[in-house]
Amino acid sequence: MKTALITHADCLNHVTPEGHPERVARLQHILHALEPLDLNRVTAPFAAEDDVLRIHPADYIADLRRARPNDGFAQIDGDTFLSPGSIDAAFRGAGAVIRAVDMVLGGEAPNAFAAIRPPGHHAETSTAMGFCLFGNAALAAKHALDHHGLNRVAVVDFDVHHGNGTQDLLWDEPRALLVTSQQMPLWPGSGRPDEDGAHGQILNMPLSPESGSAEMRAAYETQAFPRLRAFKPELIIISAGFDAHQDDPLASLNWTTGDFTWVTAELCALAQDLCQGRIVSTLEGGYDLNALSAATKAHVQELMKAAT
Ligand SMILES: [Zn+2]
Repeated sequence: MKTALITHADCLNHVTPEGHPERVARLQHILHALEPLDLNRVTAPFAAEDDVLRIHPADYIADLRRARPNDGFAQIDGDTFLSPGSIDAAFRGAGAVIRAVDMVLGGEAPNAFAAIRPPGHHAETSTAMGFCLFGNAALAAKHALDHHGLNRVAVVDFDVHHGNGTQDLLWDEPRALLVTSQQMPLWPGSGRPDEDGAHGQILNMPLSPESGSAEMRAAYETQAFPRLRAFKPELIIISAGFDAHQDDPLASLNWTTGDFTWVTAELCALAQDLCQGRIVSTLEGGYDLNALSAATKAHVQELMKAAT
């Protein structure tokens, strides 16, 4: 069985103002880089409102719909914008991760990558922020737990920014382990080790600016992987942001494309040991187009290797 690639053209209709780093070209470059790969290409469905209600209240969704402009842009916060196509893009993104979980847990795909935007890991329960509208990784986890009846799901977030939204959405969820690495100090400022969840089920691994491969590999080897092994997840969800890359303009970790290959391969090996290889990965950040497309391709190629 092949790795599933789940996306939708609607995700290209979420437009941001000129000069905004989270831009349409990001997904275009990624899809171009993935074009030659032998993947099971799946069109993302529209998420049902009831699905999104697993993580966001109805008035939050209604407020976003009301804020959607008929043309131009609506500004939600300092760097989060809506265009006319943004709400549909967000519902396709949510639909993509739900479909990914359904495929992987239903035996239709060994693992899956959701190539979607806007990203999700900064969206808190009732607050859109940091380019994000719906908390896709947390939604995938809740869908696996509540709809599929799993007991333990792990979310691993290697985006360079702290996944404050995923942390907020899973803070009181004892069935979900959240393991996240982030540059600190860096926006949004959260992600200290003492932020460990209502049940001690959140592991924050801050990394210093200008640290690189050795520091990140040590953090994952000494902290993340042992926690994952001890938790014994039935599914691993990856918040795959590629902005820790050394060429990224928004941060100053010095990860190479090889580091993304390494962490993906390690997570695939863990998944093989713990949960029949089941991984659902969803796109978060990454803002240098060449680094983003190369690192995403490396990530997906590792998923493909694990699928054979
Ligand atoms: Zn980021």
